[in-house]
Amino acid sequence: MRILIVEDECGLADALGAILKKENYSVDISNDGESGLENALTGVYDCIILDIMLPKMNGLDVLTYLRVKNIETPVILLTAKSETDDKIKGLDCGADDYLTKPFSTGELLARVRALTRRKGTTADINPKYADITLDIKRGELICGENSVILGRKEFQMMEMLISNAGQIITKETFVKKVWGYDDDSEYNNVEVYISFLRKKLQMLHSRVQIKTRRGIGYCLDGAK
Ligand code: CA
Repeated sequence: MRILIVEDECGLADALGAILKKENYSVDISNDGESGLENALTGVYDCIILDIMLPKMNGLDVLTYLRVKNIETPVILLTAKSETDDKIKGLDCGADDYLTKPFSTGELLARVRALTRRKGTTADINPKYADITLDIKRGELICGENSVILGRKEFQMMEMLISNAGQIITKETFVKKVWGYDDDSEYNNVEVYISFLRKKLQMLHSRVQIKTRRGIGYCLDGAK
């Protein structure tokens, strides 16, 4: 899962980024409306956290433009207490949710979870496939009694594989979601990380394998 934070208070943006990274999300930060819009238009994000009062272009204009361009990424607006009107305008512009500053970490994470595919309570959000489970809180891959810690990129790739079990995920999709943006030089990294994941699956004695569909991508196979 990849999240964009558009917030000009650098301290707040960095703090939010750190919280989300701890939950194994990939995070990009833009500190003004224009660069936020530019990033958001790539369409690679699973959720956008968008402040309203921003330099260069305000959050409501960013949001309006995104929806005009058919970018349907869920957006959480950040509003100050005094901006009640903006809240209503924001929802009219196509925001999915809003948070009034100051807000708690738990509140933010709950909203993000609600808008991305990680739905439900902590107990039932851990993705499962065949004999493996991904522990989102701990960043671990579990098989029976065995578990292994995954690096952030490994974690995200495994999350994508499990959430789309049975479907092939292309290298391009991995690069866009895990590394961000289209960059040919990154394609070899996908292979490297897939090989790390294969080693870890073997360490766990899991029956799950990551199959290569040559020229297309990768998918999980738990039918060994
Ligand atoms: Ca602001």
